[in-house]
Amino acid sequence: MDRSVIEKCRLELQRQLDEMMAEAERTVVDMTTIGEENFPDPTDRALLESNRNFTLRLRDRDRKLVAKIKEAVKRIEKGTFGVCEGCGGAIEEKRLIARPVTSLCIDCKTVEEEEEVK
Ligand SMILES: [Zn+2]
Repeated sequence: MDRSVIEKCRLELQRQLDEMMAEAERTVVDMTTIGEENFPDPTDRALLESNRNFTLRLRDRDRKLVAKIKEAVKRIEKGTFGVCEGCGGAIEEKRLIARPVTSLCIDCKTVEEEEEVK
């Protein structure tokens, strides 16, 4: 694979990671600054609860994405970046640039998605 493509993906992964870290910091600040004492009304409290649940879900999803990004960076370091984990073939460059965390080629991804639906 072209080194410039790998480099482009590496920079994109780093950018995503920085963004996730900044987002995680903001989330922590939100959760500690909004106290229940600011919401004496039960409706507001319910809203606060649902917001909090949303934040937790987001963080869980973010954690998974951060793990995926780190795995992709590791693959770059090991020199296996762009190799499909499903069939061992090459992942399309366009696909990698659009979504550098991907570890499956489009064919394997399609099969995986079909199996998830079943
Ligand atoms: Zn594949």
